[in-house]
Amino acid sequence: MLFDASRIPSFLLALAIAPGLVSLPALAENTSADATGETSPNAVRVAELAEDEDVEDIEQSEPLDSTKTETQREPESATDTDGKKQAAQEERAQRVAPNIDLKEVVPEPTPSATVTTPEPETGAGGEAKETPETLQAEPAPEPEKASSFTLLGSEVMPGTSTRLAWSPGIQIAGLSQPTPVLVVNGVNAGPTLCLTGAVHGDELNGIEIIRRTVYDLNPEKLSGRVVGIPIVNLPGFQQASRYLPDRRDLNRHFPGSETGSLADRIAHSLFENIIRRCNMLVDIHTGSLKRTNLPQLRADMNNPDVARFTRGFDRMAVVHSTGSAGMLRTAAVEAGITTVTMEAGESHRIQEHQIEAGVNSLTSLMEKQGMISRMFVWGDPEPVYYDSDWIRADHGGILFSEVELGANVSEGEILGYVADPITNAQHPIRSTSKGRIIGMAVDQVVMAGFAAYHIGTEAEVPGE
Ligand SMILES: [Zn+2]
Repeated sequence: MLFDASRIPSFLLALAIAPGLVSLPALAENTSADATGETSPNAVRVAELAEDEDVEDIEQSEPLDSTKTETQREPESATDTDGKKQAAQEERAQRVAPNIDLKEVVPEPTPSATVTTPEPETGAGGEAKETPETLQAEPAPEPEKASSFTLLGSEVMPGTSTRLAWSPGIQIAGLSQPTPVLVVNGVNAGPTLCLTGAVHGDELNGIEIIRRTVYDLNPEKLSGRVVGIPIVNLPGFQQASRYLPDRRDLNRHFPGSETGSLADRIAHSLFENIIRRCNMLVDIHTGSLKRTNLPQLRADMNNPDVARFTRGFDRMAVVHSTGSAGMLRTAAVEAGITTVTMEAGESHRIQEHQIEAGVNSLTSLMEKQGMISRMFVWGDPEPVYYDSDWIRADHGGILFSEVELGANVSEGEILGYVADPITNAQHPIRSTSKGRIIGMAVDQVVMAGFAAYHIGTEAEVPGE
């Protein structure tokens, strides 16, 4: 620093760093030299501050239709969901995937390598399925054995896990970098649960949630399959950018098209090669544009299958949202795949609490779906259902919050102020209802209309 910061009024300091604050992830790739705040204000394109699904899917949501969610049905058993959509989508295997113990550090996947023989680890994988059943003393009902699972041209044998590679084929072929896909095919039959992370390349918590969830699974004890794609938007991730290289938001292009834009093609490739093979999908996101979220699900509670699905996520806030066109969740639900979005924390950060909440909730889900059994379960999962509204700033300026994420607030309570750094005007933002802060903007420069606080009011548990 060339100046003594302590002598400069804080609002001037805020102004000095303001351009840096509002630069977008997509622009950040070019601003590495701008840590001192020398970014030209012209670099900030207001048009690009358009709001993402984090806000939009709530505000444009169709109202909750309580008549539709009345359902007393129990969750479908594991085998019910399995096979329902599979028959038409079976593909032919070109090779057998090597059995990889995902707990061990292994070399990166090689998409073109032809592996002809499975190489089970000693004591794991292949042996278990040959265990003579006669050795079992108790006549417990024998679970249905799984069949092999073919994905991306590889056959994954029951009771094994592996790493595959998905390549949307949009890059220069010689420079193409495949996206890792983790597959655990359980020894017993069951549904296929897919987990997608970093559809927005700067949303990091989901990557870690998927790593922990998938790497903790034991294929010998799993019923069904788990397919994890920790980093869907690999180019965005490498640039610390939310967007694709063409600056499009991938989560606006599903189910995609083979002949469309770059984003359309990537979406199409992912959707056809992987997503259609899933019975259930959890697409993991974080808040964006410097907003943070309490761990929560976005779910179309008007869809009975989805509503029932949300009951498996323990201690997760569930917010009704019908979703917008082009979102992975929307497209997947339309294709008959039971899907929710999980939001956890904020972008560009790794947040331990958020990650733990996400992993616990997914573990609870797999238990509820009959895919795993945990030693200690203290009761049924307890999701909390919310109706919600976003409260927007009515003035541009610098936002200072008075409340914290997760706080309970009353109607009319001051949530924060927007301070005008030039006129010194202070504009309070008040809560429009009694509820809980389930999402909020971090302190930053805002324009009028910026969605600052997401207030959830507890709603009835569907079907009860
Ligand atoms: Zn996102």
